[in-house]
Amino acid sequence: MQQRWDFNEERQSDLKTLIQDLVLLESPSGDADRIHQVMERLVEDGATVPNIEIAWQEHEGQPILELHRGQGGALILGHADTVWPVGTLESMPWREENAEDGLRIYGPGILDMKAGLAMGLFALRQLSEDTPFDFLVTPDEEVGSEASRSIIESRAREAAVVLVLESGMPGGALKTARSGVGDFVGEIVGVESHAGLDPDKGASAIHEAAQQILWLTTLANHVLGTTVNVGTITGGTRTNVVAGQATLGIDVRVQTAGEMERINSTLAHPPVFDKHTRVQYIGGFNRPPMESNPASHRWFDRARQIWRHDTGEELLGLRVGGASDGNFTAAYAPTLDGLGAVGNGAHARHEHIEWQFVGPRLMLIAELLRAAGRSGR
Ligand SMILES: [Zn+2]
Repeated sequence: MQQRWDFNEERQSDLKTLIQDLVLLESPSGDADRIHQVMERLVEDGATVPNIEIAWQEHEGQPILELHRGQGGALILGHADTVWPVGTLESMPWREENAEDGLRIYGPGILDMKAGLAMGLFALRQLSEDTPFDFLVTPDEEVGSEASRSIIESRAREAAVVLVLESGMPGGALKTARSGVGDFVGEIVGVESHAGLDPDKGASAIHEAAQQILWLTTLANHVLGTTVNVGTITGGTRTNVVAGQATLGIDVRVQTAGEMERINSTLAHPPVFDKHTRVQYIGGFNRPPMESNPASHRWFDRARQIWRHDTGEELLGLRVGGASDGNFTAAYAPTLDGLGAVGNGAHARHEHIEWQFVGPRLMLIAELLRAAGRSGR
């Protein structure tokens, strides 16, 4: 095993400064100028990495940053947007706290994922000058990655492995499988009539919706992990009118591509219980499920060995319900997600990172980058 990088006090303080600068540059999704500033701050540090090439792109008015060197190797994936609006810092400032288990740092977007971005950059500094990598920083992960999806997928096709800088689970566990999330709207059209005088001339969209809801719940599959939730329902105008219209809002989560296809094709041809109504489901899966496979297992095993060597602890790989850009890449390359900072409270007001994990995480990312650089593709 080669000489480990010394994460000494000076480097720790440099990294903390970079993380702090990134957090203080508030960058909600959609604010292209501020997201650009975050990326520029990364470039300022990244420019010192030997032989690095810096490429900017713009998709749908949003900046995308790519820092790369050579051919092949790993794709490192990070996003510069956060869920926090500008001004959040006033009530949720950068704050360092010495807790029982070590230093914790609080701030909007620090865990998801300003610290992860900074760690990705510092991992590059540990590499020898001939180790290739591709570090892609996107602007819109928190809002579904419409602007960046095509470039994410095209870079994943070229990558030996994809390392996603989303936060780790408590204790440092990686995210090795993620649900696919589907957002559907059921639109039901009936025939209005007077509820008292002409009930038979009408066809109630609401009564049909009730039957549809019962049918929808039968699409869940507990064994395969498919869930269906009708989360909203609207419709009708008055109690004495047979409802002409009803709408259902539905959240579907799947663990496999097969289940995603089953749901898509089933919702494309729903049963209609009252033939005088019309029913259609629109929408679909924003991100496919991230499934583990033999190739991603091999990379996870490698990560486990590195983690055990460096920390003496067992690294877990967990299935999580939320989606990330790892959902896009898993179809094209083995993907390890949750490699970024470890802490708690993503998207919540107690969002923070635990500093004790930063060093081991940096070593883990760098070691995986080295392995990917050797494996080519
Ligand atoms: Zn994130």
